[in-house]
Amino acid sequence: MRVVLLGPPGAGKGTQAQVIAGRLVVPAISTGDIFRTNVSGQTELGKEAKAYMDAGDLVPDEITVAMVRDRLAEPDAKVGFLLDGFPRTIAQADQLRSSLADLGQGLDRVLELVVDEEELVRRLSGRRMVVDGQEVQREDDKPETVRRRLEVYREQTAPLSGFYQAQGLLSQIDAIGSVEEVTARAMKALGKPEHGQPDAG
Ligand code: AMP
Repeated sequence: MRVVLLGPPGAGKGTQAQVIAGRLVVPAISTGDIFRTNVSGQTELGKEAKAYMDAGDLVPDEITVAMVRDRLAEPDAKVGFLLDGFPRTIAQADQLRSSLADLGQGLDRVLELVVDEEELVRRLSGRRMVVDGQEVQREDDKPETVRRRLEVYREQTAPLSGFYQAQGLLSQIDAIGSVEEVTARAMKALGKPEHGQPDAG
C-alpha cells in the first residue's frame, strides 16, 4: 500500500506513522526525520535545511522533492510506503503524483489526522525527545517556532486536504484519543479493520 499521512505538527503523525507502517509492513518515510539526521550528521543537505527548520519554515520544495524521490527509489519502498510529513505543499503533491505515475504507481489513500489547534499547542509545548539518554525539547518546539509552524501548516499544507479530497483519496481521522484508538480508526479507513481493537468510528 502507498499511503500519505497528513496532519498538523503535534497531531501524532510520527507515532502513528511507525505503528501503521508496521501493521502494513511498509517503510515509514519521514522527511522531518531524514532532515534531522542530516542536521545532526552535518551533511550538506543538513546545512541547507537547518535554518529553515529552526525558523519553523518549510525547506524549499526542490531540495525536499529530490530527497524524497531518491528515498522512494530505494528497494524497500518497492512494496509500498507510508509518507509522514510529505507532501506539505501542493507543488510537492504534484511532484509526488508525477514521480509515482512514471513508475506506473499511485497513492492508495491519504489519512489526515485531525486535532484542534488548542490541543496541538498544548501537546507541542510539553513534547520532549530523548537524545543521549537526556530529555530535550526539539529546537522547533519552542513556543514562537510552534506558532510559525502552525501558521505554515494552515497556509501551505492544509490545502492538501481539499486536493486529495477531490481525488477521492482522503480519509479524515479523529486523532484525539489513545494511540491504539487512533490507529484503529486509521486501519479501518485503510480497509483493514483490526478485530478486538478499540474503535470509536
Ligand atoms: P516534522 O518532523 O515533519 O515536523 O518536520 C520538521 C521540519 O522539517 C519542518 O518544520 C520543516 O522545516 C522540515 N520539513 C519536513 N518535511 C518537509 C517537507 N515535506 N517540506 C518542507 N520542509 C519539510
